Amino acid sequence: IGERFDAIVVGAGPSGNAAAYTMAKEGLKVLQLERGEYPGSKNVQGAILYADALEKIIPDFREDAPLERHVIEQRLWTMDDTSYVGMHYRSEDFNEEKPNRYTIIRAQFDKWFSGKVREAGAVLLCETTVTELLRDTQGRVIGVRTDRDGGTAFADVVILGEGVNGLVGQRSGLRPELKPDSVALAVKEMHFLPREVIESRFNLKGNEGVVIEAMGTITDGMTGTAFLYTNQESISVGIGCIVSDLVDSDRTPYGLLEAFKRHPSVRPLLENSECKEYAAHLIPEGGFNAMPDLYGDGWIVVGDAGQFVNAVHREGSNLAMTTGRIAGETVVWLKRRREELSKANLAEYQRRLEDTFVMKDLKKYRKIPAFLHNNKHVFGLYPKLISAAAQTWFRVDGVDKRTKEKQIFKALRQGRTLPGLIGDAVKLARSWR
Ligand code: FAD
Repeated sequence: IGERFDAIVVGAGPSGNAAAYTMAKEGLKVLQLERGEYPGSKNVQGAILYADALEKIIPDFREDAPLERHVIEQRLWTMDDTSYVGMHYRSEDFNEEKPNRYTIIRAQFDKWFSGKVREAGAVLLCETTVTELLRDTQGRVIGVRTDRDGGTAFADVVILGEGVNGLVGQRSGLRPELKPDSVALAVKEMHFLPREVIESRFNLKGNEGVVIEAMGTITDGMTGTAFLYTNQESISVGIGCIVSDLVDSDRTPYGLLEAFKRHPSVRPLLENSECKEYAAHLIPEGGFNAMPDLYGDGWIVVGDAGQFVNAVHREGSNLAMTTGRIAGETVVWLKRRREELSKANLAEYQRRLEDTFVMKDLKKYRKIPAFLHNNKHVFGLYPKLISAAAQTWFRVDGVDKRTKEKQIFKALRQGRTLPGLIGDAVKLARSWR
């Protein structure tokens, strides 16, 4: 590679693409390195795209981006073995001129985004793995070594958008190893069905879509969630649990997914579909407290590599794009002022992030991962109690309503003592603040 660049971006996922696009559009000389055969070939997502983050980078993305369905209905399910209790929100307002959320297929979406990055002027090299960072005698990062013959490249700054494993950062001593309790392992399948079948099963027309997020006994007491999203001619279905829980359990992610698909509330939605894809991927879910250093002399971390995922709201790609954009804008700003890309100056990246939803949300939920880790009732006992209460309430069997109320409270107290219930509610409220 040999040449010198203003910036090198490691990875062509949403974070790397956002950073590379932002800098190339402003005329910086950008080299982007991706280990996959093409951008998106290694990437896995549910996938919901949050329009707002992309709009701030490519305002007219709707004109040619490969979008599947815009989401008009959100279903949140808490499940036990035979039932679910759901909160469904569906609104005609989501059929707006510029919809707010879309389902996408990452392999197609990443290719499209990467096309925009190259149109903006960045140089992309695929099938090129960055193996380590190069430093000068003062320890400043000055470039990267790749697995290509003689493949070193030099730049004023290296932006690490290498995803959750963050191996380059780890090998270079910029970040600690991932902890098993800060990362979830998710598996996902794509089930194909004719679009009319999807539309009639989910009560949709045109490109309208439905997404389901589910929790409960489906994860067998482990911290985790499942999802089911409608695409044009396929349904994405998946489940993920925290790795440390999986290690302690005898359940496999694949076994959990099979059980989720067999659940009486899910099976009819997938009936007669053809499964054509299976993928597994990690999700960083440690939140704010698991965040590594975000910048240093000559380097910045963006996206999953920096633990930028809001697991409570199932948001990741938008945090990736936002951190990538802000990293890019910071570099452009410093270059324009002819400032060095030193640690002290790159602190501006974190300062700018502090003003965005990214840091505000991660800070707000900083205690949630520990709360979920220490309160497994949320994933087993409570879903069972909620289902049992719903069943008692809705079954018409000659029992008067006051007695039913008593039965529900008795069952609750038998499942969890009153101090236990109050304690959980207080802990949740404190973690949610
Ligand atoms: P990635 O998308 O992982 O991209 C990193 C890129 O870097 C990859 O292309 C990789 O090949 C490349 N790379 C890695 N190492 C090197 C190297 N050494 N040299 C060169 N290239 C390298 N988020 C949402 O917003 N909505 C969802 O619905 C959603 N659902 C999800 C469902 C699942 C099952 C999973 C696993 C994640 C989901 N996420 C979702 C999270 C989202 O996918 C991530 O937050 C997002 O992809 C992070 O983008 P990124 O660019 O930081 O990392």
